[in-house]
Amino acid sequence: MAMTKQAVWVYLDHAATTPVDGDVVARMLPYFSENYGNPSSIHQAGQIAEAAVEESRAKIARILDSEPDEVIFTGCGTESDNLALNGAAQINRIKKGARHILTTPVEHHAVFATVRHLAERYGFELELLPVDRFGMVDPQEVEKRVRADTAITSVIYANNEIGTINPIAEIGQICREREVPFHTDGVQAAAYLRMNVIRDNIDYLACGAHKFYGPKGVGFLYCRKDAPIEAYQTGGSQERGLRAGTHNVPLIVGMAEAFYQTQVKCQKRAETYISLRDTIIKTILENIPGSHLTGHPSQRLPNHASFVFEGVNGNDLLILLDQAGFGCSSGSACKSGSPKPSEVLLAIGLSPELALGSLRVTLGRNTTQDQITTFLEVLPGLIHHARKMAHR
Ligand SMILES: *Cc1c(COP(=O)(O)O)cnc(C)c1O
Repeated sequence: MAMTKQAVWVYLDHAATTPVDGDVVARMLPYFSENYGNPSSIHQAGQIAEAAVEESRAKIARILDSEPDEVIFTGCGTESDNLALNGAAQINRIKKGARHILTTPVEHHAVFATVRHLAERYGFELELLPVDRFGMVDPQEVEKRVRADTAITSVIYANNEIGTINPIAEIGQICREREVPFHTDGVQAAAYLRMNVIRDNIDYLACGAHKFYGPKGVGFLYCRKDAPIEAYQTGGSQERGLRAGTHNVPLIVGMAEAFYQTQVKCQKRAETYISLRDTIIKTILENIPGSHLTGHPSQRLPNHASFVFEGVNGNDLLILLDQAGFGCSSGSACKSGSPKPSEVLLAIGLSPELALGSLRVTLGRNTTQDQITTFLEVLPGLIHHARKMAHR
């Protein structure tokens, strides 16, 4: 059965995941059954697989402006975040007695649950940077709060829920000057913004392939050569000993191709995205009473529009939208049952009631002007309907 429920069903949830590009699938296919070697084997089959893995690593490194061996392959963006945060925090505690972790209240769970675990289980001291009403971090606050015993600072590159882009290069520069390791979750950003670890003074950059038209189940961590880190998955000596386990060759090949394609084209594609995005934002704010933009009005991901609506339950709205032929998302953490307001929306100062009325619309390569026109035509009626449902 095809995934789409009806011929006109439109996917507007590209921040959740993206389809794999046809070109990318074609690149991956030979590495399942034809060139199935283990890259760690000495013989010819192993050499072919190893060459594919190392070419992929070099391809990603060229884009990032890094050395190939600074790219560590992992199983997903979440794993990359975990490796950096656990790996840096633990080794810095052992080597320097550092036990302070500086992060933000607007991180993805991949970061937030990990640092909370480090605090609760291992006694790290967790400090949250303030964010403004757009969810943005002020570099001067980082300057004020980093300490000699900061084990790691982590600031999300671009927010998945509200789209806001942080001043990563400036924050990175402050951390570099103060000799504090700096991690950024680039999972959402890498699909739309040109990544460069030198320009941005990044020590650890986490990415996951399925957000940029690559396959699910694969990611990478850029880890600067001199940045402190230790493995938390032990075993073989793959990936500088930082991530043991036989390489998933086809997925790595697919990720490298998808990353290359995305990164070389992102600036050009941004123009189209921004024009559609700004149409959505303008039309909704003008035509739907009680609607508010969440996240920054301009310093936001090109494909990302996010809102809260007064008197609406976000989950009701998502179901109505789905039935009307549009797949969107909310900021709500729960899919069913009693929904909890998003911590990110609370952190930017919204009331719990308002935070429950959130809607996220994220565009992709195949999104058309016509689709958005129809979406904007049906949305006001659905909001009206959702408001009636909330009052029952
Ligand atoms: C999707 C996402 C993740 C998790 O990445 P996976 O590859 O799905 O594990 C982490 N951070 C952000 C900002 C994301 O958008």
